[in-house]
Amino acid sequence: MIVILKQGITQQEKDKVRSFLSEKGFIVKEIVGQQDTVFGAVGKVSIDPRTVELLPGVSSVVPISKPYKLASREMKKEDTIVQVGKVKIGGNRVAVIAGPCAVENYDQIMTIAESVREAGAVMLRGGAFKPRTSPYAFQGLGEEGLKLLRKAGDAFDMPITSEVVSPSDVQMMAGYVDMFQIGARNMQNFELLKEVGKTGMPVLLKRGLAATIEEWLMAAEYLMASGTDQVVLCERGIRTFEKATRNTLDCSAIPVVQKLTHLPVIGDPSHATGIRDMVAPMSLAIVASGASGVIVEVHNSPEKALSDGPQSLYLSQFQKLVHDIQALCPVVGKSLEKIPRVLPKNMADRSPADSPDSLTVAFQGVRGAFSELAVRRSFDESVKVLPCHTFADAFDAVSSGKSRYAVLPVENTLGGTVYDTLDLLAMHPELTIVGEQQVRVMHNLIVHPGTRIEEIKKVYSHPQGLQQCRAFLDRELPNAERISFFDTAGAVEFLASTDDRSIAAIAGAPAASYYGMEILRQGIETDASNYTRFYILSREENAEVYRSQSKPDKAALSFSVSDEPGALMDILKMIADKGVNMKKLESRPIPGKPWEYLFFAEVQLPETKIFDELVAEIGKKAVSLRVLGIYTSVIE
Ligand code: PEP
Ligand code: MN
Repeated sequence: MIVILKQGITQQEKDKVRSFLSEKGFIVKEIVGQQDTVFGAVGKVSIDPRTVELLPGVSSVVPISKPYKLASREMKKEDTIVQVGKVKIGGNRVAVIAGPCAVENYDQIMTIAESVREAGAVMLRGGAFKPRTSPYAFQGLGEEGLKLLRKAGDAFDMPITSEVVSPSDVQMMAGYVDMFQIGARNMQNFELLKEVGKTGMPVLLKRGLAATIEEWLMAAEYLMASGTDQVVLCERGIRTFEKATRNTLDCSAIPVVQKLTHLPVIGDPSHATGIRDMVAPMSLAIVASGASGVIVEVHNSPEKALSDGPQSLYLSQFQKLVHDIQALCPVVGKSLEKIPRVLPKNMADRSPADSPDSLTVAFQGVRGAFSELAVRRSFDESVKVLPCHTFADAFDAVSSGKSRYAVLPVENTLGGTVYDTLDLLAMHPELTIVGEQQVRVMHNLIVHPGTRIEEIKKVYSHPQGLQQCRAFLDRELPNAERISFFDTAGAVEFLASTDDRSIAAIAGAPAASYYGMEILRQGIETDASNYTRFYILSREENAEVYRSQSKPDKAALSFSVSDEPGALMDILKMIADKGVNMKKLESRPIPGKPWEYLFFAEVQLPETKIFDELVAEIGKKAVSLRVLGIYTSVIE
């Protein structure tokens, strides 16, 4: 059962409730959620819930109807985020785990580790104990394999995972791996589950070949009841009558499981299909289904692989796959999980300043705005946000050191460039662009809980929100008055401040949940390809810490030219002659200089030497030149 505690419960009352439950024979787990703190009480005992409800400090008691308790969503509303080394799995991240089916030798695992890391994998896989269908097939290198996997993980700064097949290996393996893998064939090896659970370490739990979702969640329950709350579920295909693929990937299990449990679920397209060509499309299907990641087999020479060669991706195929996954992420409201690159020594000394609890990030708008979503995508969930009334306030916040970063929109796929950001950037030479983020703008009709569409007489939103949902409003709410508001989330804040059920707002989902309102209709925008791109800005001296997280591939410049024929063309020609790809060009009036313009260009970043030469050349010709930033792009 779940014991929901009152908000003002004292420590003494809490201790009393806990010992009451323990004395009755329950295992008690405290779960601190965003809204409530609860005790999960599990065990074979049954007592009258009213005896608990009467204890001081208890708000209510809810029985859990499912056979799995600790793993159930009823127990914990928020997504569990499993932490494996520096990597987080769950929430709105998509983590890519890659590596060979089996560790074969030093060169093989090092080569694969280096390339998958470079391509964007955040964790390395590799079997050392292989449960093969045939006793004559390669069984893995055993402990020697774990040593090699550990070396590769350390060399390329990735946590590692490997399959454990025997309870007697658990302690030995705990010294090497960061996350245990329980294979499909062992999903119901309860002695193994108990032994692994006892370590308290993260576990990747594959779904059994013929396991129902409930059996799979019961296996997770075994792990959790034994002592770990760090479980990642993995759908890897089930046995059906179909022979064209090795197994049948049950993508529908992903949203089902996500509803039933707070634990993250990822997918394994390699074992699900058994065929290399199917791996990329099924990876995308897994991500599209809402999974928190994929685990993919990759080999530097699949023809020579000692196991599962036919389903292993070539390194180049894997690179392309990560790109495609990254492009898909914003569609499903997620972003690709990244781990910080190894920092140069002097930067590493400074990086604790970027630890989430000391980090403040400014954005324009009220809580729940799309800009806040961009902040959450770019930083850890736990960073402090600083909502600012205007764009200028957000610039001032980062400029004065009140916040370390600011995240501001620069362009929308339907509305075009956000000029405020470019103009303010020109006025703040101390700031630099350190990164980019992208958010899909999905509009919703938001109301007080329980409101019916017939009750709505007025709809509030930012003019763009109203405009972007015109077809929906014309069709479903033709008589409702459309009222402009300064921003979308602000309209929801206003809605929440009144009791008026004849009002609705149009905004993003985070605003609805932040203000406790309900989404009556989801995705009501006319054009679904509606994305906003944001710049992540910082003061120059803080730039390296952020930039060092991933390899920059884009640069932004601003420049002005003399008033003579061909002045702009000369500069564009310099860019073209260096073979540099220009991504965007804008011009803005220069304040105080009537009819003079500042140009903004974004280019794909060439090799450092070429870029430096280009900057020097433009510098000679242009009246003014500033490199606004060198950063990692999001894929458009
Ligand atoms: C593996 O991941 O190497 C493996 C054997 O997977 P499964 O247990 O899903 O067959
Ligand atoms: Mn395999």
